[in-house]
This record gives sequence, structure tokens and C-alpha cells, in this order.
Amino acid sequence: MSDLHHLSIAKLIDGLDNKQFSSSELTHHFLTRIEKLDGNINSFITVDAEGARQAAAAADALRASNLTNNNAPTSPLLGLPMAHKDLFCTQGLLTTAGSKMLYNFVSPYDATVVANIKAAGAVCLGKLNMDEFAMGSDNESSYYGAVHNPWDVQRVPGGSSGGSAAAVAAGFVPFATGSDTGGSIRQPASFCGLTGIKPTYGAVSRFGMIAYASSFDQAGTFGRSAEDCAYLLQPMVGHDSKDATSFQHSVPNYVAELQQAAQDCTDNRPFAGLRIGIAKAYFGEGLDQEVETTVRQALKQFEELGATIVEVHITDPKITLATYYMLAPAEASSNLSRFDGVRFGYRCDNPKDLTDLYTRSRSEGFGIEVQRRILMGTYALSAGYFDAYYTKAQKVRRVILEDFNKAFVNCDVIASPTAPTAAYALGAALDPVAMYLGDVYTIGVNLAGLPAISMPAGFTKAGLPVGLQLIGNHWTDSKLLTTAHLFQQYSDYHTKLSGVAQTGA
Ligand code: GLN
Repeated sequence: MSDLHHLSIAKLIDGLDNKQFSSSELTHHFLTRIEKLDGNINSFITVDAEGARQAAAAADALRASNLTNNNAPTSPLLGLPMAHKDLFCTQGLLTTAGSKMLYNFVSPYDATVVANIKAAGAVCLGKLNMDEFAMGSDNESSYYGAVHNPWDVQRVPGGSSGGSAAAVAAGFVPFATGSDTGGSIRQPASFCGLTGIKPTYGAVSRFGMIAYASSFDQAGTFGRSAEDCAYLLQPMVGHDSKDATSFQHSVPNYVAELQQAAQDCTDNRPFAGLRIGIAKAYFGEGLDQEVETTVRQALKQFEELGATIVEVHITDPKITLATYYMLAPAEASSNLSRFDGVRFGYRCDNPKDLTDLYTRSRSEGFGIEVQRRILMGTYALSAGYFDAYYTKAQKVRRVILEDFNKAFVNCDVIASPTAPTAAYALGAALDPVAMYLGDVYTIGVNLAGLPAISMPAGFTKAGLPVGLQLIGNHWTDSKLLTTAHLFQQYSDYHTKLSGVAQTGA
């Protein structure tokens, strides 16, 4: 049982059902790996070994009693280990958002996502490292240190959910939560050879998820396959009266739908009738040659499996990028004003007066990237500049959505590289603008509130994973998971393991 971390979620569920192993054994296996190997990866900020052991023992007891009580059905997630990005509030456990500002914050309540996953019986092993307040694309802005990519520890895992991606890719947890405001699930999934889904805005409750830019933020999942992502996404989705932007929308059975689609396909043409839109704008300047070749190769496979490629127009990503970096910091400057050293979190020593308390608590508690965004956002919102920047960017946001709407008349999904490059070296994107440019293909989705998935599409010559992004129209999350799952029935990129995942423990 030394390779339990290689098993898919479906196999783990089978193993638990057939008593090949217990949740306690599974939890022990993953905790041992974290203890032995996370020193070189730094994916966890908090490991809750004690809480996890208790939850696993409770899951084992429940499973046993369900079996004796005439096999009452259990939640598929019962007893499965997982971990949360450290911006989901967890009752009784530290929640830092990767910041010194929240170095001692223990939430008095669970985020809805956390509560739902707990209710489904999953075992939380701890909290995962991230860029500070989810601002970044390489996980280097965390107060708790950079995260290293398990495929090459000299490289970044992507961000901001870098800890989530690295932990799954290293085999420390079978799946994990993340959040995506401008690409923070898809880009690290791409850098770490994983599948990651950012659902339609409003599908998953934001209650208890520390806000970066509220009209963009959406929680989602990381797994090694689309099927693994679907298992964890299932309990997360649904209306929540505690989040005013949570939608009343029917929730499909993601796992059943993708498994059914795979079963229904008997002619090796699973994508017959599927129109994949390709936009020139998403294959333009700045795209690494090897990434482009790899993605185009994967698109050929889609065609061989029956899909039709059509050309579509979407807004120039340079415009999208400028719009995002106006609006997201504006929302951040407002959201982060609550961290003032008074109520919770970091407070400076010996303040002279109230102004000194605010100024020093915020200057000492926030890192450089967060301060930069608060300044940018405050500027865009300030009297005299509001119309020229904020209002104008809101109007462009509308145009971006309309361009997507028009594109979806002619295609079912839009495909692109997830990021313009594969994982780069630690320290390579210290120029913030260079880092922002890495978000060109992911942020349009958040501006329009669309769902999108990133999945492994091949490797560079150096052996680094490359991700392909599929963007869907609103509420086609299940279709995206199914499409990725079908592709994964005919390709094996997602089955390859990082060096760390191949290391036994
Ligand atoms: N990289 C983007 C940013 O820094 C997206 C971050 C995110 O999705 N949380 O804003």
C-alpha cells in the first residue's frame, strides 16, 4: 500500500468500500508523505494531523455502521483526505490567506465550502500555501515562503493557489480546493500537470472565502483528472443564502454525467458534433513556441476524436488584461480596508495614535504586491479619476462579455493555452508587469463570469507539463468536466507523475 497516492478518487472510494484500506490508514499515508517530503515543497501552511486522525476515525466508524445497517448509502467522499487553500475560513484552525496580516487569525466559523465538504465526510489534512490574499501567479508573494513545483523544485508551481496545485501534484492529498479570481486554479493546474476547474461565477458560495475581488472570485477544485475534480466539486456547488451572489441553479451530478458520457461512446469519436472555437488573440504575441506546439498537437487529437475547429473572435487579451488590473485592484482596495489592526489580525507595536496604528499595521502587515494593488485600486476609485478608470473599465468588461456571447453562437467551447509559458524558475517574474502578462489567457473568463477548465495537454522537452484551457458558456461546467474526461479516456498526459509523487514515503 505504498502507492496509495497514485490512485484515482474512484479507486480510493472502491478501496474504502471493499475494505482494502481504511480512512485512518489512508490519512496516515498522506500525513506521512507530507511530514517527509513537504519540507522541499512548502505546500502546507498548517497541517492538522490530530484533527485529520479524528475525522478519519469518525469516517471509518460511520462507514462500518452504515454497512451493518443494511448498507445505507454513504457519501462518496466519506473518509477521503483533502486540503483547503488557506483563504477558506476553517473553524478552530488558522486561516492566513498567505499574509502576515492574518498570522494569528482563527476563524469562529467554517466557510460554506468547508462546511459542505466536511458534511460530505472528507477528511481535511490542513491548509495550503498561496500568494498573499490570492494576488499573484507564482506563489512567491506568500508570507510563509515560496512553494516549489514538484516537477522541478527550482521552479514555481504557479499561483495564487500554488500550494493546492503542488500538494496534489506531489501526492500529499488526492484533491484540493482552490480559488480563481483571474486564473489562480487554471494556471497552477497547468504548471503542475493537473486538471483544475473554475466554475461559473455564482455556482459556489463565497461565504467564508476571504475576498480579493468579489465580482471575480470563485472557488473550484484541483485533481489529477477531470473525474477527480468532479468528485470534490459536487458538494461545493449549490445555492447559499449567506452569499448574495450565489445563484439558484440546478446542480447536475457531475460524476454521473461524465461517466455516462464515457460509457455511451462506443465509436472512438466522442467529440462528433463538438465545435471548438479558436481565437487568434489567444495564440498571439508572447506565447512560448513549445507551449503553442503542444497545445496545437492536443487540438489535433480533439479533431481526430471527432471535434470541428472553428475560428472565433474574442476581445484582444491586452485589453482584457488592462481591464482586469483596473477592476480587481479596485475591488481589492475596498475589500482589504477591513484589515486595519483593530478587530483582528496583525497590529503594530506601540502605536502613537489611531493614524499611526492604521498606517503601521497595514504597512507592516501587508506585503509589497498587496500594497501595490491597494494603491492602484484606490487611485482608480478616487474622486476625479473614477470615471476615467473604474467606470470605463466596467464598460469594457461588458464588451468582453458580449464578445464571448457572440463567439458562443458559433462554437460550444473555446480552447486556448492556459498560460503563455510552462512553469518558470523561482524568482524569474519579480517584475510585476511580467507576472501580470502571464494571466492573458485566463482573466477574460473571470471578467465574463464563465466556467473554464485546464487539463494536461503534453510536456515541453524539459519535461514540464503544459495545460490546455477549455472555456464554456455560463452553466456548462458539467460539459467542460465531461469534455475533459472524454479527452482523458484517449490520452495519458494526466496520468504522468511528478518526481516528488514518484518518491515513496
Ligand atoms: N494572477 C492573477 C492576479 O494576480 C489572478 C489571481 C487569482 O486568480 N486569485 O490577480
